Amino acid sequence: MAANRKILSLPGDGIGPEVVRQTLRVAEWFDRHRIASFDVSEGLVGGAAIDAQGTPLADQTMRRALEADAVLLGAVGGPKWDNLPFAQKPERGLLRLRKEMDLFANLRPAMVFAPLVGASTLKPEVVTGLDLLIVRELTGGVYFGEPRGISTLPDGTRRGVNTQVYTTAEIVRVARVGFELALKRHGKLCSVEKANVMESGQLWREEVQKLHDSEYPTVELSHMYADNCAMQLVRNPKQFDVIVTDNLFGDILSDCAAMLTGSLGMLPSASLGAADASGRRKALYEPVHGSAPDIAGKDAANPLACILSFAMMLRYSFDLRDEADLVDRAVQNALGSGARTGDILQPGMQRISTTGMGDTVLAALEKLG
Ligand code: NAD
Repeated sequence: MAANRKILSLPGDGIGPEVVRQTLRVAEWFDRHRIASFDVSEGLVGGAAIDAQGTPLADQTMRRALEADAVLLGAVGGPKWDNLPFAQKPERGLLRLRKEMDLFANLRPAMVFAPLVGASTLKPEVVTGLDLLIVRELTGGVYFGEPRGISTLPDGTRRGVNTQVYTTAEIVRVARVGFELALKRHGKLCSVEKANVMESGQLWREEVQKLHDSEYPTVELSHMYADNCAMQLVRNPKQFDVIVTDNLFGDILSDCAAMLTGSLGMLPSASLGAADASGRRKALYEPVHGSAPDIAGKDAANPLACILSFAMMLRYSFDLRDEADLVDRAVQNALGSGARTGDILQPGMQRISTTGMGDTVLAALEKLG
């Protein structure tokens, strides 16, 4: 068995601790069966950190996150902290983690599990077997570009400005993540921009093509305009393996792709930073959903988004692909057995608790392992 992998667990608020607990049971299962071992330590983030330490993310926790091989986060926020000033809100803890770990690549898979095909608003034949991954640039582009602002014109009307800007370095580092992920999956990368009307898009396309030709010639690269990509995602999403795109288009396209799967409680995510000399990347894994205060403390949350985020950690931080597949299959089989939390309940199915779903996934792992 390889040396222990250091995971910092930050359960956070609301249902965060509940879904993280079930996820760590999966990590413990791998340990117990001597398949892979993990050193898991826990820290505070969000409202929990505000209550205990007076800040949404203590410096010491930040340091531990930077030293860890991977961070697993539950969710932050809740009504108790809603009225705090902006700079002290629980969400600032998460933003600080993303900023100081320099997590520039956001990975959002859209995977449809056969038993949940009916939860999508699209026809079963369009989404059955869907498994695509969107890589969104997260720290550049129009959300951060200068100049920006609102000014008043001489005639008294106003003008709002944002600037879409990308440099070669920003494009290359996120494209590289896209190529690397394509190599770990089905070998196809689709790069998305608006090169027909935007210079930044033209640069994006040229830099991605150059990187492909010089370093990743075996990946099947295609280019697509963002408006066409939006259409193709609902027309024929199974044509995609990995999509790489900028911050703005990624924001929109990843939400569109997420809804192909039909359920918030099922959506995992990863955010990756730059690779160091040894190839190790800073990385944070978290479910897409929030702290769900309406169901917190009731053992009613769906832990699968968090468990699937752990599967992403196995795949992308630890290169444990077979183990990641095993978790994905265990989730698939748990759903196949009819186990459902409230958010994905279908007629004739059995409603179970957060812990019950954890039990079912572990039982499925036992059978598969
Ligand atoms: P939310 O995702 O917490 O909940 C939206 C709805 O989906 C709720 O009805 C909730 O019960 C349901 N839901 C969400 N996750 C579920 C799960 N795993 N199982 C079953 N049902 C689930 O979004 P919200 O209500 O807009 O926000 C609640 C709090 O979470 C706010 O404080 C918000 O700021 C915070 N938030 C945090 C994150 C994060 O930590 N990354 C993301 C989004 C929202």
